[in-house]
Amino acid sequence: MIQKATELLQQYFGYPSFREGQQQAIASVLAGNDTLVIMPTGGGKSLCYQVPALTLPGTTLVISPLISLMKDQVDMLQASGINAAFINSSLSYEEAEAVLYKARMGELKLLYIAPERLENEAFCMTLAHLQVPLIAIDEAHCISQWGHDFRPSYRIVNRIKDLWTVSPTIVALTATATPHVRQDICNLLDITEEHTFITGFSRPNLTFSVLRGENRDQYIMNYVGNNKQDAGIIYCATRKAVEHIYTLLLKKGIKVGKYHGGLGDEERTNMQQKFLDDELVVMVATNAFGMGINKTNVRYVIHYQMPRNMESYYQEAGRAGRDGLPSDCILLYSSSDEQTQRFLIDQAQDRTRIPLELTKLQEMIDYCHTEDCLQNYITRYFGEETMVLCGKCNRCIDDRPQIDMTVEAQKVLSCVVRMGQKFGKVLISQVLAGSNNKKVQEFGFNKLPTYGVLKEMNAKEIAHFIEFCIAEKLLAVSNGQFPTIFMTEQGKEVLMGKRKVLRRSAPVVKAISDEDP
Ligand code: ADP
Repeated sequence: MIQKATELLQQYFGYPSFREGQQQAIASVLAGNDTLVIMPTGGGKSLCYQVPALTLPGTTLVISPLISLMKDQVDMLQASGINAAFINSSLSYEEAEAVLYKARMGELKLLYIAPERLENEAFCMTLAHLQVPLIAIDEAHCISQWGHDFRPSYRIVNRIKDLWTVSPTIVALTATATPHVRQDICNLLDITEEHTFITGFSRPNLTFSVLRGENRDQYIMNYVGNNKQDAGIIYCATRKAVEHIYTLLLKKGIKVGKYHGGLGDEERTNMQQKFLDDELVVMVATNAFGMGINKTNVRYVIHYQMPRNMESYYQEAGRAGRDGLPSDCILLYSSSDEQTQRFLIDQAQDRTRIPLELTKLQEMIDYCHTEDCLQNYITRYFGEETMVLCGKCNRCIDDRPQIDMTVEAQKVLSCVVRMGQKFGKVLISQVLAGSNNKKVQEFGFNKLPTYGVLKEMNAKEIAHFIEFCIAEKLLAVSNGQFPTIFMTEQGKEVLMGKRKVLRRSAPVVKAISDEDP
């Protein structure tokens, strides 16, 4: 079967061979196993159901939440000579009926539908009369409440198989599944670990850096100025920051565009098109920009502020270097980003999601403080274990000597415990620094034996060190209304002298001001 699949790949798509992971996933699907495919955006998930659809008799259903992408996919398939169609809210009743008629006649190899359609019983009955060998569930993380993009309409998807007397094979696909979400998808769709394929999360042509304590405006001006010929995207957390950076670059004579939800449709489309056509070299944008955009020659993605979770970060940063050429992914971190993101998370309509969003935010903050290989941190986050260091991120090339910070860590841990594990980073730092402020006195923390035991550091450096201890999993943050810090089992081992804490020399905190717009 896989040989036939390879022939179809060559015949319809013009590619000589499958990529890493595609072949195994397709073989699993063709063997009739319900399968989960986890690959990063651009990894080549579509072929994992499109090729089986061509191999199998009947019509493969593709459930996809992204109406705009459905049309692109169908256009592309049709251009390759494959009979495909979609049904979503953009079609009139008559148009949808015409598509269903074609499907009933067995004329379609692939039929894309939006998940909401499955809420309509009559529509499901029509589907039940089609010959459906395979159902592809795209963006499968939407099924999980633990995902960053849960869609209630996806909940029905796990019952769809029951429409047919002979159950179709299921292939679920996603780019953004943490181990927790993966487990959830597997449980809901009854997919076994053995039929889960996770591949290709590392992007060897990307060089990751996290920079702290930079004057961010200055950094961007210098970077863009030094790379005038290169296409780049600068992501900001707020519209206000987009406007600020856009104006700075415009004044500098850079061919720059902007993109955020506050602009009119026409202006956004116009900016986007100019960027795609290389008329604009730099795009400054919020996370509204980028979905479905396939510009391959983006040489850098700079995050002016830390995004809210690793899924968003990797998706956005991953828009660099789609052509495989060396590209930079730079995150400019300031501790004020945490407040910005907490504020944005707190605006959420669905209050029940806040604790999860806060956990994800903490994992993002940990990325900014880890001293491990950044590429490894990312692949591990997405469940792909790898021991090979990328050798070029700014953690790997950091050759400052590691120093033993066990005693300092013990002081922090001990202080956290003595304060009752009920307070946040700022107050803990102040107590350790020996600050005299009102709150410290009010709680009587100036009488603790740990008061001022790190006074050789300032409160800001201590706060960074606490973040490092969190990234090292010696401390953890609760998800209540106010983030409070408590000690973990690993932290206990450090406190008892069973474990060492090594850190590269504390990063130089520069004196330049780091004002946010
Ligand atoms: P995803 O859905 O995972 O984001 P796509 O399926 O859109 O990714 O694939 C990304 C790009 O990679 C597309 O341009 C696709 O044609 C190309 N591609 C996928 N598989 C192969 C392959 N085996 N050989 C060459 N190019 C491939």
